[in-house]
Amino acid sequence: MILTSDSDNVISLWDRSDPNADINEMKNFVEEERRETARYCPHTNILVSEYERSISCRLCGAALDTFDYVLSIAKRETRLDWDLRHLRSEIKRRTESLENLKREEVNTRARIKTAQFKLHDVSLALEEAGEKLLKVKNHGKRGS
Ligand SMILES: [Zn+2]
Repeated sequence: MILTSDSDNVISLWDRSDPNADINEMKNFVEEERRETARYCPHTNILVSEYERSISCRLCGAALDTFDYVLSIAKRETRLDWDLRHLRSEIKRRTESLENLKREEVNTRARIKTAQFKLHDVSLALEEAGEKLLKVKNHGKRGS
């Protein structure tokens, strides 16, 4: 049945088979029937309706609770905040580690240079000792 109230231009529909349907007409606030689409939606494609002041899924049409949706975004950002803090401390730790490695490399190169000089000195000393030994050996041969 369709009733038209001329005073405020409100059009209402009620089901003839429900004898208590007119009770809704006496109420100021009537809850909307639970929609088929009011279910968990895994999608992230959102349709924002300025006219209905609502949000819904663009893929499956699920009606989304605006507050719950904003809350989920806030919680996600809180997690991102923690991830970012963790990543920054990780970068700081790795940078310090890299600086230590660079210092160790510089020290190791200096030690290699020093060892090369020492090796050169030892080689020279060995060569001189070999020459002296040959001289002594040859001197001994001549003497005998
Ligand atoms: Zn969906």
